[in-house]
Amino acid sequence: MQTAVILLIFILGLVLGSFFNVVICRVPEKKSIIKPRSACPSCGTALKPKDLVPVFSFLFQKGRCRYCKSPISMQYLIVELTSGLMFIAVYLRYGITPEFFFLCYLMSILLIVFFIDLKHMIIPNGLVIAGIAGGLIFFVLRFFYVNSITDGESWYSPLLGIAAVSGFLLLVAVIGMAVYGSDALGMGDVKIFIPISLFLGFKLSVLTLFLTIFLGGLTGLFLILTKLKNRKSQIPFAPFIVVGTFISALFGSSIIEWYLGIL
Ligand SMILES: [Zn+2]
Repeated sequence: MQTAVILLIFILGLVLGSFFNVVICRVPEKKSIIKPRSACPSCGTALKPKDLVPVFSFLFQKGRCRYCKSPISMQYLIVELTSGLMFIAVYLRYGITPEFFFLCYLMSILLIVFFIDLKHMIIPNGLVIAGIAGGLIFFVLRFFYVNSITDGESWYSPLLGIAAVSGFLLLVAVIGMAVYGSDALGMGDVKIFIPISLFLGFKLSVLTLFLTIFLGGLTGLFLILTKLKNRKSQIPFAPFIVVGTFISALFGSSIIEWYLGIL
């Protein structure tokens, strides 16, 4: 039974992942995510259902377009598989609960944000708004259902999270702008923490901020030491926020317990 549920959730993740790929490609170009049907970016041939089976089409066609044989970006495969595995991870942590559905929603938006920011260094407002909309529903739900993410925290914990984390980042962005005249920290990074705080509450969103800074700093240091980037290079920040959020949502309470234990 458990195996069947996991398999089903994985397939759901793959299918939705294939939709996330469409969003990743079209939103930065301001195209509709519903119409027209997907086409090969090289030859423009409209793809048939058999070309759109997640993972399998890619593998059977050996990563090439069936019609013009040009290579298909690995991104399609990576997004689909990550989406499937992500859904399984959330299920293993929370079971089939409201938390499962809401976190899958948040993580799906963040997975899209991860790839768009990586490629274009932007976080589209539409994704932030979609996140806030879901987050507000989850916030209202807490008055009727005790969720295990912010269990034991006061009702305003998500609002406190927004004030603390987005407030802090806004301050950093404004100071960075005023002192250095650089927009290293974009407004998108400030805004995307609003839905994250709505879903995760105060404690976990503060933990997410720490994880983000830690992961970003470590990666930045690695890139500079290996000379892949220099001090002046822009490094997209959202991918670290996304990974930080995922770690927080899955392991946050254990990390906080462990941290308080060693104090
Ligand atoms: Zn083609």
